[in-house]
Amino acid sequence: MRVLLVGGGGREHALALGLAGDPSVEVLFAAPGNPGIAAVAELREVNATDPAAVAALAVEVTADLVVIGPEAPLVAGVADAVRAKGIPAFGPSAEAARLEGSKTFAKDVMTAAGVPTARAYTCTDDEGVGRALDEFGPPYVVKNDGLAAGKGVVVTDDRARAEEHAGECGRVVIEEYLAGPEVSLFVVTDGEAALPLLPAQDFKRAGDGDTGPNTGGMGAYAPLSWAPPGLVDEVMRDVVHPTLAEMRRRGTPFAGLLYVGLAITAAGPRVIEFNARFGDPETQVVLALLETPLAGLLHAAATGTLAEHPPLRWRAGAAVTVVVAAEGYPGTPRTGDVITGADRAGVIHAGTRRDADGSLRSAGGRVLCGTATGPDLAAARDAAYALVRGIELDGSHHRTDIAAAAAAGRITVPA
Ligand code: AMP
Repeated sequence: MRVLLVGGGGREHALALGLAGDPSVEVLFAAPGNPGIAAVAELREVNATDPAAVAALAVEVTADLVVIGPEAPLVAGVADAVRAKGIPAFGPSAEAARLEGSKTFAKDVMTAAGVPTARAYTCTDDEGVGRALDEFGPPYVVKNDGLAAGKGVVVTDDRARAEEHAGECGRVVIEEYLAGPEVSLFVVTDGEAALPLLPAQDFKRAGDGDTGPNTGGMGAYAPLSWAPPGLVDEVMRDVVHPTLAEMRRRGTPFAGLLYVGLAITAAGPRVIEFNARFGDPETQVVLALLETPLAGLLHAAATGTLAEHPPLRWRAGAAVTVVVAAEGYPGTPRTGDVITGADRAGVIHAGTRRDADGSLRSAGGRVLCGTATGPDLAAARDAAYALVRGIELDGSHHRTDIAAAAAAGRITVPA
């Protein structure tokens, strides 16, 4: 199989490692890719959000499968343009990607499908914002309605801060606070059949102990030893299948990766958000444990043959990834600093570039992820932090508590 991977972040590096490791993959292309991906794929230049350009590249490299990593190309219609050329694409249509692209659309689908989620109002003026904040009370959850790379959400007890964020957003979704540990569940689907991957947990706040601002994600681990038994079956039954059925009913089936972000509350799992693609950095840990060849799985989803795909196989043990972020992230990151210690197995490139002189430099907010597996969470954690300690990047920061509570058995589900 000839595979073209679209994107150039940490998620795509993890996808590239999975795709390159599949014996059915004869050549892997990545566009635009990054210096880490360059070790396992042939890189091509492309504007990833230009549907015609990506489709033309897929034709040029005679791809049998195009895997679209990030949300922006999906929302722009890249999967539609590739499929219009007769090439299977892993990723939803622009219409179906609205499950991620608009929080209001996602809430409409959830309501129609009877999916358990936080009660919410979409507000467009101060008066509506005030009413919604009054009704739900603190902690306040205020979300930008459009794509915001995981950073458009403010959760705060400070009413003035909540009002200020609402003012910045314009069209805003205000919702009930969901208390309980969070789970990310990735589901591979062809629109009808659906296969869940291992649930993972990510760390959204910038600082240790879940302090500081929200980020795109500072680390992740899998599997979740503390998750209630039957959680995945319950989410497939109450969330995933009803959502897929509602999308089919609307004439916009969702095929690709449905990311279900959940809070495990005292009343059971509740959806926090849907995304239309693999999560970053959870992909790094989930794919590190997947034994089933990745390209075959994604090709089955892209060609509507997932029902015939064999059950997924997983490695024993656990995986942990720790993000090394640039100074200033999640605000404006400082870029262009020299990085050393990144050329080791398990170091995933998220925001790097290679200069003409061969030096590796930071080129984004989240720069690298130290990713490791081990026989248990404590061992995987030690190995991931050993990788992080070997990385030198001036001014960088990382959380020191990724997977710590889970490894110590300190996560509990509210009763
Ligand atoms: P989102 O972009 O919707 O995933 O939100 C980012 C983060 O904000 C989530 O991962 C949660 O940590 C938090 N969050 C969002 N919605 C809620 C909610 N209704 N209750 C509690 N926390 C939330």
